[in-house]
Amino acid sequence: MSFCHAGYFTQGLDADPELAAAIRGELARQQDGIELIASENIVSRLVLEAQGSVLTNKTVEGLAFARYYGGAEFADAIEDLAIRRATRLFGCRFANVQAHSGSNANAGVFLGLLKLGDTILAMDTAAGGHISHGHPATLTGRDYGIVRYGVNRETERVDLDEVRDLARAHRPRMIVAGGSAYSRALDFAGLRAIADEVEALLMVDMAHVAGLVATGLYPHPFPHAHVVTSTTYKSLRGARGGLVLWNDEGLSDRINHGIFPGVQGSVMLHAVAGKAACFGEALRPEFRAYNQAVLDNARTLADALAAAGLRLVAGGTDCGLMLVDLASRAITGDVAAKALERAGLAVNKNQIPFDPRPPEAPSGLRLSSNAGTARGFGGAEFRTIAGWIEQVLATPSDEVLTARIRAEVKALCAAFPIYAA
Ligand SMILES: *Cc1c(COP(=O)(O)O)cnc(C)c1O
Repeated sequence: MSFCHAGYFTQGLDADPELAAAIRGELARQQDGIELIASENIVSRLVLEAQGSVLTNKTVEGLAFARYYGGAEFADAIEDLAIRRATRLFGCRFANVQAHSGSNANAGVFLGLLKLGDTILAMDTAAGGHISHGHPATLTGRDYGIVRYGVNRETERVDLDEVRDLARAHRPRMIVAGGSAYSRALDFAGLRAIADEVEALLMVDMAHVAGLVATGLYPHPFPHAHVVTSTTYKSLRGARGGLVLWNDEGLSDRINHGIFPGVQGSVMLHAVAGKAACFGEALRPEFRAYNQAVLDNARTLADALAAAGLRLVAGGTDCGLMLVDLASRAITGDVAAKALERAGLAVNKNQIPFDPRPPEAPSGLRLSSNAGTARGFGGAEFRTIAGWIEQVLATPSDEVLTARIRAEVKALCAAFPIYAA
């Protein structure tokens, strides 16, 4: 794109070497290392271009075709396109694509559908839930009465009997399902039956599994959920931001007003364009192939780690992510994550259910196949990755070992360029 040469600040990134160097550094970091952090992915050039477009310049407030500002003809077309694609992708009637993030999507839904002080029954973060579902450090934790369910100590899965008992005892206005470190399928029909019994709404936050849901590879929250929220940059491989979906027209005004003006102002149209782009990609047959590969690779990685003697929380995975329990290794998650990072493998430390260790030095590591699969890794590469992880965990302070693996990681990555010229 060429810029006019009249006016101020007409140059591109080359006018800011300091910033340009940091962005180049980040590209090299992504290219040369293996991303196993579950909340990340590698988006297409199409998504990058949509998000880096002139839509940054345009301010609109309100919904498409009902804006508070003029000049919104293309803004309306873009938002309408994103909504049409989102509803088609997830087989539902309504969507709001304006949430700036997953947390904003959740906060907007709570604000729109609940009253101050209403009770929400949500998954405990210690069991894999997300902080935006009422953690005490967030606004949602302050404004609503939060009751938490965990997982069963034996199975490490959500236990519907516990959810039902808590629902009967506390009569929540809303039950929230879906988490950030929960690797197993959820029983949405069972959760809805509990919600109906206590006359609560069921909200499903599918941030980590949206891509699998869209392609029929994970249980679909609809028709069970009254409202579904998601991020669009994890398993959906798209723009940074959030998404809200629902079917009952009676909820539309409350949800839309909960997002705007409830929790945010004008629309990040460039992100909405990025959402339209990724929903368009997700409607293509290749997206199913990608998600099947995410699942296959996650299972390959999980099986290889288990074969090396590492315990997986809940015995494995039904999606792209898994939690490794390091308790048997006498190494904490923070030490393990730092050693793996030195070896070029990006992971995050994570608490496991009933973790005896504190959040700063927890017992778990969270891994995901999303980003590796996006760059083309298959079973062979994920078996190699499992081998590297096993070696680093065995001797995390061996700097010679981590340096050798770092070089091998870089060589493997060179064969899988993320943005080939
Ligand atoms: C990542 C995540 C979010 C939050 O997304 P942000 O965009 O960081 O606000 C919300 N819910 C779940 C389940 C998540 O995993």
